[in-house]
Amino acid sequence: KERTLAIVKPDGLLGNYTDDIKKTIIEYGFSIAEEKLVQLDEDNVRRFYAEHSSKSFFSNLVTYMTSGPVLVMVLEKESAIADWRALMGPTDANKAKATHPHSIRAMCGRDMEKNCVHGSDSPKSAQREISFFFGEVSTD
Ligand code: ATP
Ligand code: MG
Repeated sequence: KERTLAIVKPDGLLGNYTDDIKKTIIEYGFSIAEEKLVQLDEDNVRRFYAEHSSKSFFSNLVTYMTSGPVLVMVLEKESAIADWRALMGPTDANKAKATHPHSIRAMCGRDMEKNCVHGSDSPKSAQREISFFFGEVSTD
């Protein structure tokens, strides 16, 4: 089976969407192999989202992701990476509401930034991100 990293972002936790998100995760055949509640600091977010460090939205992303605790989970199933990305829906929650009404971002996201959940985008990212939060040594 494949593993991917999922995060319920601060807006998801503050909006009390965690139970609905977990219910959906289980309904779609994932198992939750690991989970923990974490308050990220700026350095954590800068390293986690390092690929976006040159983007115009990066400082807003750091503010958003440090604005409250996040729930970090390792999800497991066959094709977990692609299936979790599909279940989340598009990055822009407004697009998700319009075109993927059953997606998680349609359920609890607000816009291009506050989109409620994260998912690894490739096997390489999944490995890096899982060890970032759950490995003994963090890679960057
Ligand atoms: P994630 O990596 O969080 O799963 P994603 O892979 O769908 O989301 P990315 O392009 O990796 O999207 O962007 C990372 C995060 O940065 C987005 O989830 C969103 O919170 C924020 N973001 C991306 N693009 C923008 C933008 N144009 N304006 C504001 N915030 C953005
Ligand atoms: Mg991404």
